[in-house]
Amino acid sequence: MARILILGAGFGGLELSTKLSEALGDEAEVTLIDKGEGFVFGYSKLDLMFNGKGVEEVRLPYAEFVMPGVRLLRETVTAIDPAAKRVTTDAGVHEADYLVIALGADYDFAATPGLAEVDSEFYSVAGAEKLAKVIPDFSSGRALIGVCGAPFKCPPAPSECALLLDDELRRRGVREDCEITFVIPFGSPVPPSPETSAALKGEFEQRGIELITGRRIASVDPARRVAVLDDDAELPFDLFLGVPKHRAPEVVIESGITEDGYVPVDPATLATKVPGVYAVGDVATAGVPKAGVFAEGAAKIVAQRLLAEIADGAAPERHLGQGTCYIEFGEGRIGSVDIDFLSGPERTGHFNAPSAEQMALKEKFGADRRARWFGR
Ligand SMILES: Cc1cc2nc3c(=O)[nH]c(=O)nc-3n(C[C@H](O)[C@H](O)[C@H](O)COP(=O)(O)OP(=O)(O)OC[C@H]3O[C@@H](n4cnc5c(N)ncnc54)[C@H](O)[C@@H]3O)c2cc1C
Repeated sequence: MARILILGAGFGGLELSTKLSEALGDEAEVTLIDKGEGFVFGYSKLDLMFNGKGVEEVRLPYAEFVMPGVRLLRETVTAIDPAAKRVTTDAGVHEADYLVIALGADYDFAATPGLAEVDSEFYSVAGAEKLAKVIPDFSSGRALIGVCGAPFKCPPAPSECALLLDDELRRRGVREDCEITFVIPFGSPVPPSPETSAALKGEFEQRGIELITGRRIASVDPARRVAVLDDDAELPFDLFLGVPKHRAPEVVIESGITEDGYVPVDPATLATKVPGVYAVGDVATAGVPKAGVFAEGAAKIVAQRLLAEIADGAAPERHLGQGTCYIEFGEGRIGSVDIDFLSGPERTGHFNAPSAEQMALKEKFGADRRARWFGR
């Protein structure tokens, strides 16, 4: 029986182990390892901050992930030996015939001096929970939504944060006493989709949100409550909503398999340079944005490749880097962008304007995955 070890039960790891279970059931030994208590959709962080949701409402407990042939272990990976396909955790050592790294992207606070001290980011569950308590007290001065480096997860998310914050301040009747400034290192909010960027810019203009493009937060001075941009310009703030610089988790970097902070893979197959070792999702450099929908798409391709090798599965397809990202436009409106990065010669991003249909599709996106992975 082939032993398949999958590190990380996020979008990529959950979909890969589900696919393998569907195809092989008890005929393979699939071990899925995650240190967390449960899975949380990335966008749920905005629900924690702006929709009054609690973590227990948005977390899907791993205890409810029950798939034939899959063992989900709640352990922390402490060392990875890619060549030997041997993984050490806080509970022991695991060996495998195939290893899939799906540990996501981690945050590099040290890359932005002052960021850890200001302790005000919304990209982790703990950070979003903390800000959910701080935002209600913000009623005057400048809110600064600042991205500290690219690439970062879900490129539209900071734009969504700016629009949802604007909603919240209007709801409380304090919008006129507040400024909202949004700093992003890209030339536009969603670079592969000029239409999506134009729609978001239109919203920012209409709502008086200041957009600073092509700049990132280089450092933060918590004592002076000032953010310094990479052109040395200073922006004072009263509320900071930060997106930290990302990189692969330390344990992946220490394994020696990364380059420039991420695991390089063949974009078509997700294979790393080590035979039998794959990397999917945010941890990899696969030529696609860092978003759950792409992690899931990559996992489907790796499942096909593993099945072709160990169980006479059909010839595997090429990873096409396609997926839809839903975007909160505020006031309960939801639009989306259909991304296609690898199927043709050009990267494309087709915009779907906010509508009731898009809202229903986003609802279905979450509901389908809750049902598929957690039987809820
Ligand atoms: C605010 C926000 C909004 C977002 N909105 C969307 C959206 O609308 N649509 C979308 O597609 N994406 C969205 N995303 C992005 C999405 O959440 C990520 O891109 C996605 O989760 C990546 O999937 P992954 O499988 O690569 O990694 P993850 O889902 O991050 O999973 C990695 C797993 O590895 C585990 N792990 C890490 N280190 C260790 C270790 N040492 N030992 C054991 N386990 C470990 C973690 O606990 C985690 O469960 C959003 C992200 C944010 C922050």
